[in-house]
Amino acid sequence: MQVVDRIDAFRKELEAARVAGRTVGLVPTMGYLHDGHASLIRRSAAECDVTAVTVFVNPLQFGANEDLASYPRDLEHDVAVAEGAGAAIVFAPPVQEMYPGDVLTFVHVARVGEGMEGASRPGHFDGVATVVAKLFAIAGPCRAYFGEKDYQQLAVVRRMAADLSFPVDIVGCPIVREPDGLAMSSRNVYLSPDERSAATVLERALRAGADDLGHAREVMAAVVASEPLARLDYAEVVETDHEYRLVIAARLGTTRLIDNLGVAKFFDAGSEASGSISTESRLRRDAD
Ligand code: AMP
Repeated sequence: MQVVDRIDAFRKELEAARVAGRTVGLVPTMGYLHDGHASLIRRSAAECDVTAVTVFVNPLQFGANEDLASYPRDLEHDVAVAEGAGAAIVFAPPVQEMYPGDVLTFVHVARVGEGMEGASRPGHFDGVATVVAKLFAIAGPCRAYFGEKDYQQLAVVRRMAADLSFPVDIVGCPIVREPDGLAMSSRNVYLSPDERSAATVLERALRAGADDLGHAREVMAAVVASEPLARLDYAEVVETDHEYRLVIAARLGTTRLIDNLGVAKFFDAGSEASGSISTESRLRRDAD
């Protein structure tokens, strides 16, 4: 297991692996790794010959009043988790290495990055898209693993990689949760014991919304309102071809948490072959 902090060294390692006929998996993270991150690393290690984990708390994606300075960091622990999950390389560059001077070039993904997190955290997705584009440019052809935990981020990264023709296959991975339902997050360490108990309200709200899809936004808001320690930021339902995705953000004290849950659209037995989807059936069934 190698730990590198220079762009050149990282690029050369991955290039050498490909020249030797090995496939590369990339897992970009901000570190303080937990089992959610480990699930991405294990998936990459199962599907690719060489798995590289990047650990970089990217200043570009934090707003002025956000938690950049206090974001938890523990590289020694991260290296151990990455190795245990099957990574071959950790790339942990200092800020100076990634951004040696003023950053004048940004990647902006329109529409996909607007609303929800994009509205609550102005500039956040420009910072994400810019650093991920940079990591893709450094890493070269690979598969890159991202969690559905950051649902809108995954959509932004997919669109950015497609629009800019990066030779990178984006792989989305399911959310890993604590036994009580709370989605794992490096930010969970900020929570006081009372806030930690209350934080399950996000997942409870999502499940209640999924049980009443026709009123999901109101139901999710009501569940969060019933928890005195929680303040709702937004609760939305995003419709795609194959599912409804319930998306929520809330604050517990000063800690902002996000979560989401997919509800598959109901396929009529007769229409499945043609690929047509009966959303109505699903809504009707839920209303019964
Ligand atoms: P972060 O370090 O928070 O930037 O996350 C790095 C990657 O891990 C992102 O693709 C996240 O979506 C993913 N991730 C974070 N938490 C989880 C989780 N609980 N389950 C699955 N993936 C996660």
